[in-house]
Amino acid sequence: MNILVANLGSTSFKYRLFRMDQDGGEVLAHGGYERVTDHAIAIDDAIATLQRDGIIQSTDDIDAVGFKTVLGKDLSGCVIADQSVIDALDGFADVAPAHNPPYANGIRQFAKALPNAKLVALFETAFYQWTSPASAHYAIPKSWRDIGIRRYGFHGASHKFIAERSAELMDRPDVAETTRRLYLDGQQAPDAAPLRVVSCHLGGSSSVTGILNGVAIGTSMGFSPQSGLPQNNRVGDLDSGAIPYAMKKLGISVDEAARQLTKESGLQGLSGVSNDLRDIAAAANDGNQDAHLALDALAHSIRHWIGAFMIELGGIDALVFTAGIGENNTAIRATVCNGLENFGLHLDAEKNTATRATEATISRDNSPAKIFVIPANEELVLAREVFRKLS
Ligand code: AMP
Repeated sequence: MNILVANLGSTSFKYRLFRMDQDGGEVLAHGGYERVTDHAIAIDDAIATLQRDGIIQSTDDIDAVGFKTVLGKDLSGCVIADQSVIDALDGFADVAPAHNPPYANGIRQFAKALPNAKLVALFETAFYQWTSPASAHYAIPKSWRDIGIRRYGFHGASHKFIAERSAELMDRPDVAETTRRLYLDGQQAPDAAPLRVVSCHLGGSSSVTGILNGVAIGTSMGFSPQSGLPQNNRVGDLDSGAIPYAMKKLGISVDEAARQLTKESGLQGLSGVSNDLRDIAAAANDGNQDAHLALDALAHSIRHWIGAFMIELGGIDALVFTAGIGENNTAIRATVCNGLENFGLHLDAEKNTATRATEATISRDNSPAKIFVIPANEELVLAREVFRKLS
């Protein structure tokens, strides 16, 4: 099955064409466009390029298109991308303004360009469909809950991949199979010994998710991708009282407050140096105290959420690091794991230092709980879920 994974930004379009079968898949082609003003033109050009390069003979050779949609009002899961998906994206366009409109538009364009292809949306919120009401709800008035304000969670594709892969590494094929079939079967009642995993997706955008027997029990991100850990330019968790206070004191509008919390906050705002952890670490090495603070605040927040999920899970069997920072930044991993031996997590300092951008076990051989680095590959995750959905 040939599956095109479409990654749509407000001014960008990237794609990766996979040939998928039961045993996995291979990338047939990939490409992308920046500074896009009309997604329809970019999409048509991508399809024409695939034909011209002989990757496909006709548009019918693309069996399906997968979309990593972010946040739908009243809709989640891995679903056929029909009008209901477009309506759900439009319903929350204000909450995810950089993500929802390009995907709604992209789905419309692909329906025109590839009328015979199946279109499938995998919502980033999908993995959290089975979290408990207690973990999903904020203590807000009913009228606020009625307009859809609750904890949704994001990075679902990445954390679900970690759930599946960590179960394989922990020699728990039963749990891996539960996760593989999650969007087909829904949650299954686990009757085996619990497998308790905490997954840390640390990148430009970061979150920590607790996973019991392959199913998420909660995550650090909430209503919007603004929440949880400090992100590259986004604030992460913030006391709601701070927003009206800052608006009055600084004399700024709600839109300007939202802009500053989205563009000028997070690691950029705290460090005053950069939104990239490599630059921040270099500045900290040079003695920049604000850069130190940004590194410490990130590590503190990661540990805060790991601790929360270890309590919820009743312990931990595996801690996983993934995404750009999680895969490459050995210092953050060491700081996060510091002093967690009483919880069964013994980091092997040498293995940690030696591991970058590759799958590895970085705990000591005799560590009761394992610590893994598992590279993220969100396009492949999407291609797999689309293949499962359609086969
Ligand atoms: P992502 O959003 O997953 O691409 O992650 C971006 C973040 O990962 C940035 O803060 C980078 O500093 C960090 N990162 C990416 N690659 C590396 C690398 N090779 N070494 C250290 N940090 C990296």
